Amino acid sequence: MKRTGWWAYIVFAVGVLTAYTIALVTATPVAVTGVLSLTAMVGGITAMLHGIRRYGSASWWPWLLIAAQLLVTATPLLPPSVLAGAPHPGAADALLLASTAVGALSLLLVLRRRTPGWDLPGVVDAAILTVAAGLVSWVYVIAPAVGGAVDLTARTVVAAYPLSDLLLATLGARLLLDAGPKPVAVRCMTGYLALIIVPDTISSIAAFSGDHRWMPVAYFLWTASTLLLGLTGMHPSLRDVDARAATTTPDLSATRLVALALASLVAPATLLIQYLRGAPLHVPVVVACCSLLFLLVIARLAGLVVTQRRMAATDELTGLRTRRHFRAALNSPARQRSATAVLLLDIDHFKSVNDTYGHDGGDRVLREVAHRLSVAVGSEGVLARYGGEEFAVLLPNASPEQARAVADRIHTAVRDTPVLVGPDTAITVTASVGVACCPADGTEPRQLTILADQRLYQAKAAGRDRVADYSTPVVAVAA
Ligand code: GH3
Ligand code: MG
Ligand code: MG
Repeated sequence: MKRTGWWAYIVFAVGVLTAYTIALVTATPVAVTGVLSLTAMVGGITAMLHGIRRYGSASWWPWLLIAAQLLVTATPLLPPSVLAGAPHPGAADALLLASTAVGALSLLLVLRRRTPGWDLPGVVDAAILTVAAGLVSWVYVIAPAVGGAVDLTARTVVAAYPLSDLLLATLGARLLLDAGPKPVAVRCMTGYLALIIVPDTISSIAAFSGDHRWMPVAYFLWTASTLLLGLTGMHPSLRDVDARAATTTPDLSATRLVALALASLVAPATLLIQYLRGAPLHVPVVVACCSLLFLLVIARLAGLVVTQRRMAATDELTGLRTRRHFRAALNSPARQRSATAVLLLDIDHFKSVNDTYGHDGGDRVLREVAHRLSVAVGSEGVLARYGGEEFAVLLPNASPEQARAVADRIHTAVRDTPVLVGPDTAITVTASVGVACCPADGTEPRQLTILADQRLYQAKAAGRDRVADYSTPVVAVAA
């Protein structure tokens, strides 16, 4: 795919940033940096609008909202002299904060499209990072800023800036940590959200400390972030940013684990640093964040345990229970005290299905047989894939007659309708079934699979495609 526009935009962005850096270090008149900021802003918005038109697909309007937000947040890029006369808090603050709300709303829409379900692990991961970032923001930015403000309105406004950044950071973390695809456009967008926090924080600190030394860096980073958002619009992968995730559970990769571990250490680390500096400790806030992080980590671990348990109990190919689950159900203490029946079903000549129709054809048979067995057994018993082409049914409180009836039902369900092994090929599949009951067969429940297996062997030896139970005459089986 040709990406001429993408590369042209990168050259443009690097050019503007280089010129801006030169202008900053050579103390060029403020009008020049102003023009360069405006160039970056116009370039960024044009790139985003271009992306919406070219790659935005059906869901173009979250992107339009993002472009609108970019237009407004670009206001701080104007030369400081333009804003100098504006009263604080005032209309400019309202406009900037409203634009953040619009940006957050549009990101939420994108996130909803990517993971329409709940994606709880992704939400918990993002929450862990947000609590950690929120604590740092509180201790180093919000608390000092609020402390210096004169009245309630001013306090609300100065606190609103870092809080709105925190909101964007949360959504950015969510975008990076969800189960959805991570094309270049997603990385550019999360880069933008991470980058925008730094200049916003610098300007908040400058506002309450009166130290404006770092403001040129803030202006540089605002310009860079605008250009980075434009880069999102220029990449063809913009159309995949809101593509639906294939799974709702993101992988717990090593990087993610390290990031989460570091984030959960932020609260005690902050307390220690403040203590060593002799600075305010913010004990209640640190304790609240520590507790929250602790609970979130436990919730994440609990989620992992549930997922692992489900995977251990579910056969991947057929969706039935696994042999491990079946054995645990059969050996449970409650089962040893009540009547129980075990049915073992083995597909006849399955190897030749694989040999003739390939492994895929064999898998289709296994899935279809599993489906028919689930329908035939219903909620009466525990149905498991016991081995390659072998299935087991556990029937609690079943008499030998009831067990035989279920065995006949599953035997017929497998053979009655041909099974599709390819687009136009259907074959008749047969199976042999062995039945064993307790107490009728005079054995313990935990011994039932051995007896059912012996009867299955008898059914095979007697010619396959049949059910064998206590009434089946024992035939000599060649060793
Ligand atoms: P019998 O009538 O005596 O049961 O003969 P059979 O061919 O069914 O039995 P055999 O044990 O010789 O072959 C079982 C085959 O099942 C061998 C193995 O390759 C195949 N198999 C096991 N697991 C899978 C699977 O997950 N997918 C597919 N396609 N084949 C499998
Ligand atoms: Mg077989
Ligand atoms: Mg077998």
